Amino acid sequence: MGQPGTVIIGGGLGGLSAAIHLRLAGRDVTIFEANDCVGGRANRIVRDGFRFDTGPSLLNYPWVFQDLFRAAGRKLEDYVTLLPVDPSITFQWTDGERFTLSSNVQKLLAECERLEPGSRPAVFAFLRDAAIKYRVSFDKLVSRNEDNVLRWLGALSPGEIARLSLWRSLDGELKRFFKNHRIREAFGAYGMYLGGSPFELPGLFSILAYGELAYGLWLPKGGVYGLVEGIEKLARELGVKICTGQRVRRIILDRNRATGVELADGEVMHAGTVVSNVDLPTTDTELIDDAGIIARTRRSIKHIRMTPGVLTFYWGIRGPVAGLGHHTIFLPDDYRGAFDDLFGNKRIPRELPFYVAVPSATDPDLAPPGDTAMFVLAPTPLLGELGPVDWSRTAAEIKGGIIERMQCDGVDLDTERIAVEEVWTPEDWRERFGLYDGSAFGAAHTLFQVGPFRARNYSREVSGLYYVGASTTPGTGMPMVVLGGKLVAERITGRVHQA
Ligand SMILES: Cc1cc2nc3c(=O)[nH]c(=O)nc-3n(C[C@H](O)[C@H](O)[C@H](O)COP(=O)(O)OP(=O)(O)OC[C@H]3O[C@@H](n4cnc5c(N)ncnc54)[C@H](O)[C@@H]3O)c2cc1C
Repeated sequence: MGQPGTVIIGGGLGGLSAAIHLRLAGRDVTIFEANDCVGGRANRIVRDGFRFDTGPSLLNYPWVFQDLFRAAGRKLEDYVTLLPVDPSITFQWTDGERFTLSSNVQKLLAECERLEPGSRPAVFAFLRDAAIKYRVSFDKLVSRNEDNVLRWLGALSPGEIARLSLWRSLDGELKRFFKNHRIREAFGAYGMYLGGSPFELPGLFSILAYGELAYGLWLPKGGVYGLVEGIEKLARELGVKICTGQRVRRIILDRNRATGVELADGEVMHAGTVVSNVDLPTTDTELIDDAGIIARTRRSIKHIRMTPGVLTFYWGIRGPVAGLGHHTIFLPDDYRGAFDDLFGNKRIPRELPFYVAVPSATDPDLAPPGDTAMFVLAPTPLLGELGPVDWSRTAAEIKGGIIERMQCDGVDLDTERIAVEEVWTPEDWRERFGLYDGSAFGAAHTLFQVGPFRARNYSREVSGLYYVGASTTPGTGMPMVVLGGKLVAERITGRVHQA
C-alpha cells in the first residue's frame, strides 16, 4: 500500500462509504466507532422478536448504493435484497382526505385527478421539469467537489440555472403546477427533513418528490439495517479495519496539522489523514484539540442553520394494525402554522405533523408472526431552541396526541396492544451519535447551505482533517452521505474515480 494510514472517526453510512472509496484508492483505513455497531443514525433496536430501524426508513435513489458496490467490482444485489414499497407514501389530513403516491404513473395520475380534476397535464409537466432538475443536480452539481460558486454554477447553462428555481420557494414552485393545496402540502412536506419550511426552501427540492416517484421507495430485506450490514461486509472484505466500541476523545494536532486521534482509553493512533464522520459542528466544537480553533468555530457554527430534532417511538404491537400502509405522513389542518412553529417560533407545534412507518407490512420478519413493528417520528425544535424540557412528560403527551389522531383517522391501534416500546428524544439522539444540538438530519439545505455554500468536506483550520456525513457536502440523507464518501475520497486522493 505504501500510503500513510487514514483514520475515520465514526462508522455512519458516510464514514463507511469514505472508507470503501479510500481503500479502493489503496489507502490503509481504520474506522473507530464509539457504539457497539456501525450504521450511526441508521442503527437497529432488537427486542422481543421485533427489529426496528432507528432512523432512516425511506430508502430511495437505489442507484447510489448500486454505484458504491460497482466501484468495488461487486453487485449490490449479492449483498442486499431490496424489496419494493409501492404504493410508497400516503399523506392524511384530519378530514379523512388521503393522497397516496406511487411510482406507477397511471396510479399517480388517477390519484392527482381525484384531488385535482384535470391535473393530468400538470402532473406530466411537473415530472418533466423535476426530471431535468434532478439530472442537472446530480450530473453537474452534487457529484463533484467545487468550492467556487461561479465555477459551480458555471457548469450549467443559463437555462439550466433558471430551471433549478433556486430563488423561488418550494411551495411557490409547486404552485406553478398544482392548484390543489393538498397536493402541494404533500410534495412540500418533504422540506421538513431538509430543515426548512416549503415556504422558504428553494424550489429545486421538488426533486425529492420526483426522486421517489421515479426511482421508487425500497426496504432492504431485514430492514434498513440490512443495507448497513451489506455495506459493512463490503468494507471488511476490502480490508477496512473497523473497531467498534472505540470512542475518539480528540483529534491530535501538530501545529495546525491533524496527526492522529486519541481514543477514550488514552491510546493514540497516528494517521496521515483524519476523516471525521461525526456530525461536522460536533467535530469542530468538541473533538479538535485546540482551544483557539474551538472558540473560533463555536462562533462561526452559530450561523449554521440545522435541521430540527426528532422524537422517535419504536412500538412492537401485538396483532395487525388495520388502516395503515408502509409509510404514512399525518398532516395537520394548520399546515403553515406547524412549519412556522417549528422553524420560526421554535416550539413544538400544537397540531403536530408526524410520520409513521410499518416496515413489517413489507418484511414480516421484522416482527413476531402476526405482530406489527411500528416507527413513529415527530419533529421538534433543536435542544438549544427549546431550553429545558421534561422529556418523559412531553413524550407521553405527544404519544397521546399521535395515538388519538391515528384513531380518529381510522387506524386500529390502542395503547394496550403496544407490547414493546422504546422512545428516543433529541437528547438521546445527541448522546448516542453526537448529533449537534440534537439535530436529526444535520445542517439544513437552505439556499445558502447548498453546494459551495455548505460547510466543506475539509477543514480550513486544520490540514489533513476532512469531513464526511450529513452536515457537510453534498448533504443529508442516506444516498447523499454515501455520495459524500466518494467525494471526500476524491478530495483526499486528488483522483476522480469512475463507478
Ligand atoms: C430519525 C431519523 C430519520 C431519518 N430518516 C431518513 C430516511 O428516511 N431516509 C434517508 O435517506 N435518511 C434519513 N435520515 C437521515 C440519515 O439517517 C442520515 O443523513 C445519515 O444516516 C447520516 O449519516 P452520517 O454519515 O452523517 O453518519 P452518522 O449516522 O451521523 O454517524 C456518525 C457516527 O459517528 C459515531 N461517533 C460520534 N462521535 C464519535 C466519537 N467521538 N468517536 C467515534 N465515533 C463517534 C456515531 O456513533 C455514529 O455511528 C434520518 C435520520 C434520522 C435521525
